[in-house]
Amino acid sequence: MSVRVRIAPSPTGNLHIGTARTAVFNWLYAKNKGGSFILRIEDTDLERSKPEFTQNILDGLKWLGLNWDEGPIFQTDRTALYQTKIQSLLDQGLAYRAYDTPEEIETMRARQKARNEAPRYDNRHRNLTPDQIAAYEAEGRTAVIRFKIEDSREITWTDLVRGNVSWKGRDLGGDMVIARASNTGTIGAPLYNFVVVVDDIDMGITQVIRGEDHIGNTPKQILLYEALGATVPEFGHTPLILNETGAKLSKRDGVTSIFDFKKMGYTAAAFCNYMTLLGWSPIEGMDEIFSLESASKVFGFDRVNKAGAKFDWDKLNWINSQYLHAMPVPELTDLLIPYWQEAGFAFDPIADRPWLERLVAVIGASLAKLTDAVEMAEYLFTQAVTPTEDATKQLGLDGVKDALSAVLAAIPTEALTEESAKAIIDAVVKEKGVKKGLVMKSLRAGLTGSLQGPDLMQSWLLLNAKGWDRIRLTGAIG
Ligand code: GLU
Repeated sequence: MSVRVRIAPSPTGNLHIGTARTAVFNWLYAKNKGGSFILRIEDTDLERSKPEFTQNILDGLKWLGLNWDEGPIFQTDRTALYQTKIQSLLDQGLAYRAYDTPEEIETMRARQKARNEAPRYDNRHRNLTPDQIAAYEAEGRTAVIRFKIEDSREITWTDLVRGNVSWKGRDLGGDMVIARASNTGTIGAPLYNFVVVVDDIDMGITQVIRGEDHIGNTPKQILLYEALGATVPEFGHTPLILNETGAKLSKRDGVTSIFDFKKMGYTAAAFCNYMTLLGWSPIEGMDEIFSLESASKVFGFDRVNKAGAKFDWDKLNWINSQYLHAMPVPELTDLLIPYWQEAGFAFDPIADRPWLERLVAVIGASLAKLTDAVEMAEYLFTQAVTPTEDATKQLGLDGVKDALSAVLAAIPTEALTEESAKAIIDAVVKEKGVKKGLVMKSLRAGLTGSLQGPDLMQSWLLLNAKGWDRIRLTGAIG
């Protein structure tokens, strides 16, 4: 049977790293097995689901390169199917209408709490007589639909990640609500655990690979598979992503949405590479830098860890830097242009392209994140710069202004080349009898406004191409 896996995000928030990493594992597994990766949008929570979140999820998966083979399939389009399936469970006596009021449920819970018992439904409406039902309906009560869960059941499965897992029926909280309250004879909105199973059966899902936070749903869902007469798929629960303190990575950690990582300057390929390493260990002898395509050749759940995966910024930065350093200049230029535009730098991406590529060739090897290029190259995008304190001090040293005046005077009218720039410096050193180091340091201070930064000669050439070297040195000489 060919492998069919899915990612099933709820559009109640932006695509976050937990779902994205689960999507990566599903994608890798599908590719490894020559199977299909399906996208399902779980939008049954009408109050919290929003079209903009759906869009963010689709855009995020596309940005990451996690292309899906089928979908997106929206659960809200499938209500009729869910209702038919609920009706079949009612008809078989595997589910029933429960008429408890919210107050009655609350009283039951309070009593359980007072007895130090775990909260559960005590199945009190499982065997109502026709008279009792008629009386509740005459009162105008609405009914939820509950699926029967036998306390005596033991549910076991061999998890792709966690091995043998076993749950007792009595730990599942009693008969489970599968549809919200509705009036006599109608079926209310079906709930999460039920629709997931109906969909996974209908879509022929062979492996359900999802976050460990869903592990408690799996025994309930297995019982639903049985009740619906379907083959139970395999399950794999992937480890949580943890922050530095060992807690689940959450909004409080500042970033969870995929596009936050894009904004911070990570590339999609590097980020996918990093996400794969969050829980999966490469095979012996395999480099830690890999494409999803190459990881898919060897991916398997035998190398997915059970323990939570700690999010490590240093590692992510290192991986990202490896991608940026290996990237051809034109490609890196394409990626950097939006960051420079976002920073408000004035340039023409088409007319200035050759100049931009020269700039990228100079700074590319120093970047860990795309955003680093904003601060690193700022001095090349504005005509004037405000010198730092150190640079100002440098420019005030004895003989500096004199040396820089000589450099300024020697700048040719035609474009400067590396050779002509070097020749100017050598000539000034000789003519003024000053140390070369002093001229270089002062030239950096005068041209870039700082004592640190990218290669001085290349910076000079880039400024010269705009005619700004003259302006800067004139300003520095004062
Ligand atoms: N909709 C669920 C979520 O976003 C996933 C359900 C599943 O994978 O079974 O967490």
